[in-house]
Amino acid sequence: MSARILDGKAIAASLRARLAERVAALGYRPGLRVVRVGDDPASGVYVRNKDRAAQEAGFDSATLHLPADATQAALLATIARLNADPAVDGILVQLPLPPQISTEAAIAAVDPVKDVDGFHPLNAGRLAAGQPGLVPCTPRGVMHILAEAGVALRGARAVVLGRSQIVGRPMAQLLLGADCTVTIAHSRTRDIAAECRRADVLVAAVGRAGMVRGDWIAPGAVVVDVGINRLPDGRLVGDVAFDEAAAVAGAITPVPGGVGPMTIACLLENTLEAALARRAT
Ligand code: NDP
Repeated sequence: MSARILDGKAIAASLRARLAERVAALGYRPGLRVVRVGDDPASGVYVRNKDRAAQEAGFDSATLHLPADATQAALLATIARLNADPAVDGILVQLPLPPQISTEAAIAAVDPVKDVDGFHPLNAGRLAAGQPGLVPCTPRGVMHILAEAGVALRGARAVVLGRSQIVGRPMAQLLLGADCTVTIAHSRTRDIAAECRRADVLVAAVGRAGMVRGDWIAPGAVVVDVGINRLPDGRLVGDVAFDEAAAVAGAITPVPGGVGPMTIACLLENTLEAALARRAT
């Protein structure tokens, strides 16, 4: 193995510690509310982790749990109440939502100034227009990892695998904003391996275990693996075949312990920024 391992767990811990110091100096506790609908077990783990990390960093965090058969009107009423609550700085609607509820409607109902997931169309539009706004947590976490690793982004060729609203698209916008030359590849891309081989920075956010092989990677490239895939034997792996890739890449994030921990740390960062912006007005 030759690649440097980019330790997202350590980078996230130091970001959370810096945020805790800033929160302690505020004189109030930024308020984060997570809205969970139903009993999806994976969501339960995520929500508990978010709550715990937020409380440890000094935030006023709580989860509102609606039953699996909650109506869309009930969810929108809950969001409206949180929008109007002056103690609440950040609102996160945990996805996925049950089928009777439109994800789009739920996302659009969150006040954009409290939209700490950065999924509201107004914040997505701001990011696309290069304007300041709340940025989705996972791509924001990737940018922190690249900065901590000292990766030179200006003029670099970046390839993003995946074009989802929550990872791929905002990731590409952030890399573009950092002066990369960005290619977005997806399920209709003709020769995805060839696109990847051109990358100085490769970000994989596809949701296919081990799809990115070692011979897709240019020697010395920086590889960031956003994917989280559970194998039949219970192991968690990324979208990148780690051992093969690590033999070729210059630096690589592991799964677990790479991008995953950054997502929660960046949720807290967004919540603090939302609190500062809202309370300054
Ligand atoms: P989505 O399923 O929403 O999007 C996947 C994207 O990958 C789509 O754009 C799709 O293309 C593309 N894709 C799927 N199959 C292929 C293929 N064979 N070749 C090329 N492109 C393909 O997933 P998300 O963006 O939500 O998540 C991606 C991964 O990241 C998942 O493993 C998820 O668990 C993980 N994740 C991790 C987070 C973290 O905190 N670390 C947070 C969020 C997600 P098309 O648009 O053409 O269908």
